Order: sequence, then structure tokens, then C-alpha cells
Amino acid sequence: MSQPFKPAESEAFKTLWVAQNGLCALCGEPMPKHRFEMAHRTLWQKKRPTFDHIIPRSKQGVDDVSNLQLTHADCNKRKGSSVLGDKRSRTRKFPK
Ligand SMILES: [Zn+2]
Repeated sequence: MSQPFKPAESEAFKTLWVAQNGLCALCGEPMPKHRFEMAHRTLWQKKRPTFDHIIPRSKQGVDDVSNLQLTHADCNKRKGSSVLGDKRSRTRKFPK
């Protein structure tokens, strides 16, 4: 059930990125697409795009673009605090 945390390389990411014009689904601000767009690693870790399940997987939400949106890691975390079942995958380290 673990989700590989490489949004920038997946088809779902590309589809959603285009559909959302690179904007966060929760706050509406632009998201950086690559680590290199950010001056600081810590900033990237907060602002990097992440997948958010519109219907949480704990409530039978599916891993499909129809149930996914892109959000800042920070916005996702804030929203996700009520979805404890997903917490482990959300806090996984982003591979370099
Ligand atoms: Zn946001």
C-alpha cells in the first residue's frame, strides 16, 4: 500500500500539474516543480508538491487522478492532521 514518493516522475503528477496550472489545490498559490527552483532545501520540503487524496484512502479513496489533487507539502500536512491513517506515508523523506 505504500506510495512511491516521486510525484514529478509519475503520469498522475503530470496530468494534475497541467490541470491545476501548477497551483496548490488547497491554498491556490503556485508550487515549485523542481527542487532546483527553491533556494533552500527546507523551503522545498515545505513547498514541494505532494499528492492529496480527495477521499482519504482510509475511507476507500482510490489512488487515481480522479481522487488526487496536488498540494504543497505544508498544506497537505495541515489538512492531513485529521487523517491519522495516512500520516506515515505523508512524512516519508523525499528521495534525492
Ligand atoms: Zn498550498
